[in-house]
Amino acid sequence: MRLSRQEAIVTSWQHREEVLLAPYAMFAKKSAGRRFHEPPHPYRSPFQRDRDRVLHSAAFRRLSGKMQVFTGEMGDYHRTRLTHTHEVAMIARTVGRVLRLNEDLIEALALLHDIGHPPYGHSGEDALEQCLLSFGGFSHNQFALTLVESLETRYTTYAGLNLTAEVLAGQNYRITHAGQTPLLEVQLVDLADSLAYNAHDVDDALALGLLKFSQLQSLDLVRRAIDWSGVNLGSANDQIMRHSLVHNLIDVQVADLIESAQLTLAPVVELDSLSVCELGISLQFSPIIASECQQLEDFLFDNVYRHPQLVEIREHASRRVQRLFECLVESPQKLPPRFIDRAQSIGVERAVRDYLAGMTDRFCDSQYRSLIELAEPQAKDW
Ligand code: MG
Repeated sequence: MRLSRQEAIVTSWQHREEVLLAPYAMFAKKSAGRRFHEPPHPYRSPFQRDRDRVLHSAAFRRLSGKMQVFTGEMGDYHRTRLTHTHEVAMIARTVGRVLRLNEDLIEALALLHDIGHPPYGHSGEDALEQCLLSFGGFSHNQFALTLVESLETRYTTYAGLNLTAEVLAGQNYRITHAGQTPLLEVQLVDLADSLAYNAHDVDDALALGLLKFSQLQSLDLVRRAIDWSGVNLGSANDQIMRHSLVHNLIDVQVADLIESAQLTLAPVVELDSLSVCELGISLQFSPIIASECQQLEDFLFDNVYRHPQLVEIREHASRRVQRLFECLVESPQKLPPRFIDRAQSIGVERAVRDYLAGMTDRFCDSQYRSLIELAEPQAKDW
């Protein structure tokens, strides 16, 4: 039978997955599809289309103006939410390729995973949570779904990006952590997220002078990373030491994750992705690396995330979000027209939540200046 040009191309991405992916990967041709039916694309698989829809969303571009841990005022070396997202995507794709999982799905999930973060990182999230206690609270994972299901508009007949069921379920699992064990691609992106921030927060905190090497040397994972390359760095300067440490921290964790996953997946190589979920198969680090990662995370929590310099910035940011929330709830006519319309259907508080949570740090600062400082000069003390 002679295939049309379009059928031949669609068949080609299906064929590519059949050749390259392991039986336990999520194959795009098995996708449960989208809420609103769409004809197949001539040359992109459903997960490639999802990845591109997230990439081209306004919320994704705004990640460049959102802090990860350290604010823009602290310099331009450290990670933003956008560069963190790319690090997660690349680490997850690297592991996914070795394990023969679906890299297109991995990339879509990774690009999506942090787009729901409000301005000012976790302090912005905590402030919104406090403001919305009587209105369902606030979760950046939930807001990511609100963005891709309601606020991002691309099509004339429905709101949202109309992503596949698998990508939405992966993001939903981040909220509930309940139900069937998620796809291996979903689990992998979660692990790559923590692996990436453990390593890059060490890098950024050292570069910003919030940490010293001497403080890190009692940590088991750091000692393991220093030994990893076998290269004597005794005479290297601090900058080379820092880069080497961070690369090795990533390598140690990635290598362990791959090795552990291969051991876990070897007996189930004949199963399909549904069986993997039904059997509750989990990707994880080996017990020793998992405990060393936890030790590093505890250390970062006590010594970096609670550093007096960051605590002060967080309190400042948190007050800004709170004041803006109160101001806009009191005077919803100051919202942009589409959020005034949204307030009619979901209520003022939730519409203000959606407007505030979508802001970059910079835009939130400028709104604070125009709506609070210029309107109430005494507020400059904040
Ligand atoms: Mg993340």
